[in-house]
Amino acid sequence: MQLPERFVERIAQELGPEEAAALCRALDGPQPVSVRLHPMRRASWEAMEPIPWSEAGRYLAERPSFTLDPAFHGGAYYVQEASSQFVERLLPAKIEGARLLDLCAAPGGKTTLYASRVGAEGLVVANEVDRKRVLALVDNVRKWGLGNVAVTCADAARFAAIEGWFDVVAVDAPCSGEGMFRKDDGAREEWSEQNVHLCAGRQDAILQAAWQALRPGGVLIYSTCTFNREEDEGSLERLIEWVEEPFEEVEEVAVDPSWGIVCGRVGAFQTFRFFPHRARGEGFFAAVARKAETAQRGRLPKVKRKVVTPVDKASCAELARWVIEPERLAFVEAGECCYGWPKGQVDALKGISEWVPTLYSGVGMGQLFKGRLKPDQALAHYVGLNRASVAVAALDREEALAYLRRGELTAEHFTEGINLVCYDGLALGFAKRIGNRVNNMYPNALRILKQDI
Ligand code: SAM
Repeated sequence: MQLPERFVERIAQELGPEEAAALCRALDGPQPVSVRLHPMRRASWEAMEPIPWSEAGRYLAERPSFTLDPAFHGGAYYVQEASSQFVERLLPAKIEGARLLDLCAAPGGKTTLYASRVGAEGLVVANEVDRKRVLALVDNVRKWGLGNVAVTCADAARFAAIEGWFDVVAVDAPCSGEGMFRKDDGAREEWSEQNVHLCAGRQDAILQAAWQALRPGGVLIYSTCTFNREEDEGSLERLIEWVEEPFEEVEEVAVDPSWGIVCGRVGAFQTFRFFPHRARGEGFFAAVARKAETAQRGRLPKVKRKVVTPVDKASCAELARWVIEPERLAFVEAGECCYGWPKGQVDALKGISEWVPTLYSGVGMGQLFKGRLKPDQALAHYVGLNRASVAVAALDREEALAYLRRGELTAEHFTEGINLVCYDGLALGFAKRIGNRVNNMYPNALRILKQDI
């Protein structure tokens, strides 16, 4: 499919004919393939070419079938476009232990990156308005397994009331997607000038909520995957006009000229543009600034709604058995599932889940039946799982794929009772052997389907 005519005309006006032609050629050319490695798991991509602006980013020589790689399902890496990994550079130097709000988070590329950076004492609140897309976000957060993320499902505007509370707010805004013209033909099809205006309006509302949720001195990160100035610099200009308090610059973000990133400024915001004919990644725009230290720090709004209940002593003992550092977790029950919440974030998680519909938080432990835990898929991926608490079935690639397809499994590889199913040391999920039968506990919704191959 051709690039939209109006887009080509506009780009020629903005960049000049030669540069615009180079951009259009790049948009019709091959796309780089890249991943971001999990900070605590081993991946065979380790030795591949690093993405210069991302610590855990790697370019791959060609696109493999990720679906048929058990390590992908074990969360050894996240398949993430290279340019968007740049947001890592915009995080404050002291990010460990921070409370970060990722307002437009599905499917979770940036959420998993932020979770890797805030550390075990920090908290990422990953929000997504779309009820379908939020499910993919939950799956990716579970698979990343750091236990420091809460997933909420609401319009970004809902967070405006959590005034002055987050250390970092990231807005990866819904946009007209011009930067995806190479990767995704659908982006070309859906593009229209009308849609650009619609997106700009949405971005204004989301940025205003982001601004309100940010604490004084906190850092705002704004990004889109479009080249459109109305949605990039324009959104920042409109935000600056709207806010009553001043923005401040963050420390200069170091960018090597050889990376091909075009750096700029909008007021106190440092801005970064990625054009595929200059930088090795898809089209992307990112910006960062700090909220001035003039206002008061905020508090979570108080609500009289109880969404979680504490777990009794005996159940706590059963849950504690499954994790390496139970003293770090507080166990709660929400719906039918038990969760482990990092102790330092209990008040935060309680407040958030009372205010915003929360689908997942901390580490999903599973369901208790007559005092015994039926472990959740999330617990298999949790980096703090106590592997001594459960038998381990180490499968080869073929068997691992059979497991991931929810196919038949040979009982001889499994111990009687619940097993942690592993491939190359990576946990894929659980299975239960009962005599000569193996009950495959891999979630139906995640299984590899025939058409995935
Ligand atoms: N940050 C994601 C990642 O790195 O994987 C990609 C986010 S995508 C560019 C933008 C997301 O914002 C979409 O999933 C969209 O459904 C969501 N969105 C759109 N309007 C929203 C709103 N008002 N509040 C919250 N999320 C919204």
